[in-house]
Amino acid sequence: MSDNSTTTAAQRLAEVQGQIDKACKIARREPADVTLVAISKTHPAEAIVPLLEAGQRVFGENRVQEAQGKWPVLREQYPDVQLHLVGQLQSNKAEDAVALFDAIHSLDRPSLVTALAKAFDKTGKRVPCFVQVDIGEEEQKGGCAIKELPALLEQARDADIPLAGLMCVPPFGIEPAPYFALMAKLADDHGLEGRSMGMSGDFPTAIMLGATHVRVGTALFGARD
Ligand SMILES: *Cc1c(COP(=O)(O)O)cnc(C)c1O
Repeated sequence: MSDNSTTTAAQRLAEVQGQIDKACKIARREPADVTLVAISKTHPAEAIVPLLEAGQRVFGENRVQEAQGKWPVLREQYPDVQLHLVGQLQSNKAEDAVALFDAIHSLDRPSLVTALAKAFDKTGKRVPCFVQVDIGEEEQKGGCAIKELPALLEQARDADIPLAGLMCVPPFGIEPAPYFALMAKLADDHGLEGRSMGMSGDFPTAIMLGATHVRVGTALFGARD
């Protein structure tokens, strides 16, 4: 893990990009087919600007309100930024989320399909959504249960939600590869292109198992408080 105090944002970005390139080479994939989503949650604008200056353009936040506080100003300076929501979304924040974000990685339940469909109609903006799957079948973890996935996808398709793919956060502290493989299979089974999987500790493995979007925070920004 990079030490935030002795490396620059540009160095950390180059290191992560190097690992992405290496994993792609092993898997015979194109680095251009893997989107690095820099997870900037908890980090202030001062910590984000150096990464923007180093050329990073896709960022992720996990709370609507926090993102509303930071990103409108940054976007004035960097209008080509793409912002992804990677955290649980309350239905009553769906409209705010649609207004601010360019992708949502946490569609996880029928009531949110309804709320997002309504927000899309109201705002006239439709953003690609990843359905989050509770890939380790963990009680308290976010995400749709695997057995409920077919019904949720059907509902989302009926509601004209633009489906980008699936997203998962595997169980903490154990080998993630089987979970990444399972998610890739579920995405294949349902004809979905996008696979949002892999974080600082395991993104090379995720890439080798088909990740299209890796969500990397700590390796780019240093540890969160
Ligand atoms: C915080 C977060 C990440 C980034 O985790 P790191 O281990 O810091 O890379 C990725 N995905 C989600 C959903 C997160 O909440």
